Amino acid sequence: MYEVTCATCSNKVLVEKFSPIHTSIQWTTDARTSCPEFVAAAEQGQDMDSFPGCTALRASIDDQVRTGKIPTNSFRAEPTPGQIG
Ligand SMILES: [Zn+2]
Repeated sequence: MYEVTCATCSNKVLVEKFSPIHTSIQWTTDARTSCPEFVAAAEQGQDMDSFPGCTALRASIDDQVRTGKIPTNSFRAEPTPGQIG
């Protein structure tokens, strides 16, 4: 797991990237009380199970991935172009 700090709310999360589209995020604090975006969504009565999460945090994670600080894990079998079998 890789530690990422949200640039906006400074919450720390642990991130594991399994594939370009699958990112596992583990909060070290309770996001629903410590992240202002979560708190705002909850106050507006949003369904928290479908809440996509803190956008600032996602931007921070994307940044780390783009700069290579978080590698995409390849131990899961991914289809490799040009490979048969
Ligand atoms: Zn946040």
